[in-house]
Amino acid sequence: MANVRAPASPVSAPCPENHNKDPASNDLANSAPSFKAADLALQLCKTRKPCPEVEGLQFGTVFTDHMLLVKWSRDGGWERPRIQPFGDLSLHPACSALHYALQLFEGLKAYRGEDDRVRLFRPALNMRRMLRSASRLCMPSFDGAELLECIRKLVALDQEWVPRSASGSLYIRPTFVGTEISLGVKKPSSALLFVILSPVGSYFSTGARPVSLWADTTYIRAWRGGTGDYKIGGNYGSSICAQHEAVERGCQQVLWLYGDDQQITEVGTMNVFLYWISEEGEEELATPPLDGIILPGITRQSILELAHDWGDFKVAERCLTMAHLCQALEDGRVKEMFGAGTACVVCPISRVLYQGKDLQIPCEGNFPPLASRFLRELTDIQYGRITSDWTCLV
Ligand SMILES: *Cc1c(COP(=O)(O)O)cnc(C)c1O
Repeated sequence: MANVRAPASPVSAPCPENHNKDPASNDLANSAPSFKAADLALQLCKTRKPCPEVEGLQFGTVFTDHMLLVKWSRDGGWERPRIQPFGDLSLHPACSALHYALQLFEGLKAYRGEDDRVRLFRPALNMRRMLRSASRLCMPSFDGAELLECIRKLVALDQEWVPRSASGSLYIRPTFVGTEISLGVKKPSSALLFVILSPVGSYFSTGARPVSLWADTTYIRAWRGGTGDYKIGGNYGSSICAQHEAVERGCQQVLWLYGDDQQITEVGTMNVFLYWISEEGEEELATPPLDGIILPGITRQSILELAHDWGDFKVAERCLTMAHLCQALEDGRVKEMFGAGTACVVCPISRVLYQGKDLQIPCEGNFPPLASRFLRELTDIQYGRITSDWTCLV
């Protein structure tokens, strides 16, 4: 099938948050050369697959009809972006992604509202984080606004796959890999950026399920100067054995600790929040600061911004240790604890296994009031029940 140039998108209003203060500036762009969404080549698949019922689907196992690919090489620069039928990639066995984890990714979702329109949630923040990851791995830069525009076109093309349900969504996985054909450990001279789409059902399809955590210092997720604060593949493969050990011990996820003072950092692949009465006697929502070992989650940032706006309690980015948590539990000062991320929005925590003892975390009705309030507020925005400049239409 011949490649055709994609028609100009009828909805080309820029996504909000591409811009800082000056609406004419695009801070996702940089001086680096970039591919352009206007050059997108389209190769459509001949027959569309039927979209499955999303409830009961295992996360990330079913993919849509098309994918986006953009190739880069040091000598040739960025090629035209292409949308083509979903299918296998062909990679050289010496390709650097396979040997040295030259891989980074993003995770965001498209949501279908009751008005049948499809929205993205703060996608410019994912683009910015992706550019930051690329820079950490010495991968080439590009204009994030152009990638976002390509993603909007891909989602628009496969929009039938965005579930018609108040809790399903289409998970978007931008991925960027080094394709250097060399066993030398070096900056790649060629790379492949691709985006695939996977329909997902409700995270809480079997009802609200608070999670139990294994808190232990055997495994360390991230350290200062490392890469824990970047969404790059190498961080995740190495975390799986800790996750397994948590399950063997009857818990669902890992509570990642750091340092001699056992700082609480993250929960599985989510940021962590503690809603409590602080040592100073103040009602406070606390989460660890972005000090180099915390993944800068977009859900985390959104929760902090909402809580600041509400002004109903103190909001703190501060160090939280196991000693702080144990003392607060003893004093009855813990109100709620929850994880936060794109997959679940918020996920209540009911128990922490620590030094052989179960710490019971208050978890009223399995989905306590503050976690419920964030879940409601954020999903109202994502599904377009509240208009917000945090979403943009596809
Ligand atoms: C992706 C991720 C998060 C959550 O980020 P969101 O942008 O909110 O989805 C938190 N922690 C880790 C380790 C992650 O990989």
